[in-house]
Amino acid sequence: MASLTAGMYPPPLKEAELDGLVQTIKDWSIGNGLAIRPPPAIIPADADPTGIAAINAPVTLFPSRFPRICFDQGKSVQKTYNELYASVSRDEAFVAQIVKEVMDGDDFIRNLWQTHLRVKEEGYTQPLSLGLFRSDYMVHQDASTSPPTLQAKQVEFNTIAASFGGLSCYTSLLHKYLATTEYPLLDQPIASGTLDLPESKAIQGLGAGIEAAYHAYPSCELGHPTCVIFLVQGDERNVFDQRHLEYQMAKSSPTIPLFRLAFADILTHTSVADTPKRQLLYRLPRSPSKVFEVAVIYMRAGYGPGDYPDQRAWDARYQLERSAAIKCPTVLTQLAGTKKVQQVLATPRPSSAPSTLGRFIKDDTPLAGELWKTFTNIYPMDTSEAGLEARKKAVDPEQCQSYVLKPQREGGGNNIYRGAIPEFLKSVPEEHWGSYILMELITPPPVSNLILRNGKVEQGGVICELGIYGTCLWNQSTGDVLHNEEAGYLLRTKGDKSEEGGVAAGYGCMDSCTLV
Ligand code: ADP
Ligand code: MG
Ligand code: MG
Repeated sequence: MASLTAGMYPPPLKEAELDGLVQTIKDWSIGNGLAIRPPPAIIPADADPTGIAAINAPVTLFPSRFPRICFDQGKSVQKTYNELYASVSRDEAFVAQIVKEVMDGDDFIRNLWQTHLRVKEEGYTQPLSLGLFRSDYMVHQDASTSPPTLQAKQVEFNTIAASFGGLSCYTSLLHKYLATTEYPLLDQPIASGTLDLPESKAIQGLGAGIEAAYHAYPSCELGHPTCVIFLVQGDERNVFDQRHLEYQMAKSSPTIPLFRLAFADILTHTSVADTPKRQLLYRLPRSPSKVFEVAVIYMRAGYGPGDYPDQRAWDARYQLERSAAIKCPTVLTQLAGTKKVQQVLATPRPSSAPSTLGRFIKDDTPLAGELWKTFTNIYPMDTSEAGLEARKKAVDPEQCQSYVLKPQREGGGNNIYRGAIPEFLKSVPEEHWGSYILMELITPPPVSNLILRNGKVEQGGVICELGIYGTCLWNQSTGDVLHNEEAGYLLRTKGDKSEEGGVAAGYGCMDSCTLV
């Protein structure tokens, strides 16, 4: 296997070459929608009062070298992961146990669970459930083998609002474009055709998942046309990522009406029909006589406490959950994506005991074995024996250096790293430590690249995180799986001095793979 740092890659650039490459990327990005709305620090609101400004998404100047073996590993286990998480979400008793373990110190999780219980009381009317998932990995180098082996280790599994499928496709296209137009002309050229650039098909893959759910929705009885809703945050900056998915669906399924609805507007523009089926009805704000029956509600919002400032917001989530719309995701599927579930799944049990994984999927198949290999060490922070051990490590100023402490949150910016863990834990009552999990840090082999962010180039060591998308449509009551696909990839890269890697949260940038 070629080394990730073999030769000079990316090649050294003369100043004029760097300027030229940057100009090409700036134009291509806006020309093709590899873009985001600007943060106020870059373009203040009063400089753009009509909200027309868009800027380049942060992106690497070159595709990063990524081990093919890890890329293939992530892709090959995705369908098994889809099945696993569909199965977890169907196991209410298991999810209840997980919730019980974390909710004392976590009102958000408690409220989600309450929403599920409220709907359960009157009974769910929609058995179908849609997951647009993304499993995230970093490369782990196992130095104990000779030669050292590389493995994809899972960072986390996302079951709600997994983003960047749209921008990932355009990033891989940008790098393909540069590989034919720019890189071969550098002083130290990269010859055309020497990079192995897998194209991300996430837009098509995710779109196909939503379309599968739409077509599985039983035909409407109320006489309204059916539609798909993208549930979004009102102040979303990553809007073009979502729009690419909408544009794709408008092309592949032009007859499916598709609308964007802000989370804060759910109760204003939707209602639940007073029928046994409880159809979700959407009244078009610009033309209120037009009413649609919502077949699929795809949530790009509602994943964190920020979207639930008051009881009204929780009532809105409850309204969606009790309706007949196919939810992507349901509350149970959202809860299946918590870090606590990941920890419990990844925790080995005594050899005499059945594995937790075996509760959900056949655990003696080669694919289950492959999936197991993607797990890394994650520990509970509860009062079990393993939890007390983990607590000791977490508060020890030296041992804590190898760990990240995670709450049950999504969207980046929530974790506590290394030396900050002991101090942080002092601020949390000890009876609430069980709401966190402690995860071993994955330290990928060094890779270098250049990042273009807000018009400036940053150069140096970077850390790459691969995301593999998956789509799954299943029947929550019977367990039948109607659609299960691997759905494209994402590569995000951050400077190796930064702990967090979220692009939207401002830490990372978009990238694509050149496989080595
Ligand atoms: P979120 O759901 O907020 O995205 P993640 O678990 O993905 O939470 O953590 C956010 C970021 O923190 C990741 O993108 C990655 O850069 C870093 N990170 C998380 N877990 C690990 C780990 N075990 N090893 C190294 N980095 C990690
Ligand atoms: Mg993440
Ligand atoms: Mg996440």
